[in-house]
Amino acid sequence: MDDHGDAPHGPHGPHEPDEIRRFWSRLGLPGLVDVHTHFMPERVLRKVWEYFDGLGPLTGGMEWPIAYREEEAERARILREFGVRAFTAMLYPHKPGMAAWLNDWAVDFARRTPDCLHTATLFPEPGVEAYVGEAVAAGARVFKAHVQVGAYDPADELLRPAWGVLADAGIPVVIHCGSGPAPGKHTGPGPIARVLADHPRLRLIVAHMGMPEYEEFLDLAERYGEVRLDTTMAFTDFSEGFMPFPRRALPRLAALGDRILLGSDFPNIPYPYAHQLHALERLGLGEEWLRAVCHDNGAELFGLNGPELR
Ligand SMILES: [Zn+2]
Repeated sequence: MDDHGDAPHGPHGPHEPDEIRRFWSRLGLPGLVDVHTHFMPERVLRKVWEYFDGLGPLTGGMEWPIAYREEEAERARILREFGVRAFTAMLYPHKPGMAAWLNDWAVDFARRTPDCLHTATLFPEPGVEAYVGEAVAAGARVFKAHVQVGAYDPADELLRPAWGVLADAGIPVVIHCGSGPAPGKHTGPGPIARVLADHPRLRLIVAHMGMPEYEEFLDLAERYGEVRLDTTMAFTDFSEGFMPFPRRALPRLAALGDRILLGSDFPNIPYPYAHQLHALERLGLGEEWLRAVCHDNGAELFGLNGPELR
């Protein structure tokens, strides 16, 4: 049944799925919930890949070989093979006039990909409140905002009503707002703190643990009960090499165990998927913490614990 042939799909080849399945079954989990995976229209994704290949300034000049450069259906199949029960389609505009089009694509993608949490995005532009409302009405369950690539201020007046819609609807927003791998004009905890002061109930999920401003974003999570963080690329050898997580903040990470969510950045990662899991395990915060982070927190947030599930 397996068609890996001589061309293993990941850096770990045909044994990688077993390794990953062993990881979550050892923990007694029914699988993984990954809140940070990228699916987007094929030509947009190709552009993103070209960008990583060309070592654009936003990669921080790092070599960034994409580990899972596959067709869309194959990428979804790989996640299922890993036992990822629910994932997202993190898509984001880099200019005005693009978000509504991405959202239309995402409706269709969610329809043909039932294990993908229907994802939508936004940009500070006229009409944003309307298309965010439409995406919510169409069933969007999570939003993605990319402050670095979009080069906008998340506290921009134009976004204010849209954040209000999302806060009222309780829909989580995964937001890349930290200054890694390279800072942007509006990255860092300041602009986001202004958004939260305005919308304290907004369910922000700070991508990449806010790297490299880990502690400042932990401050925000400690202050606002609906702020969460995703683990995307954090704690891996790759990120620790140039943006290490401060060891002194580990107790805070442990204490926030119910608000840390597994994210991977699949497929755009320069190492095997399993490495993210081992990077979490080696933090030494224990199995209960790992269970919450790798599955239970996401399952709870997105209401995945229906009768047929765990
Ligand atoms: Zn990402």
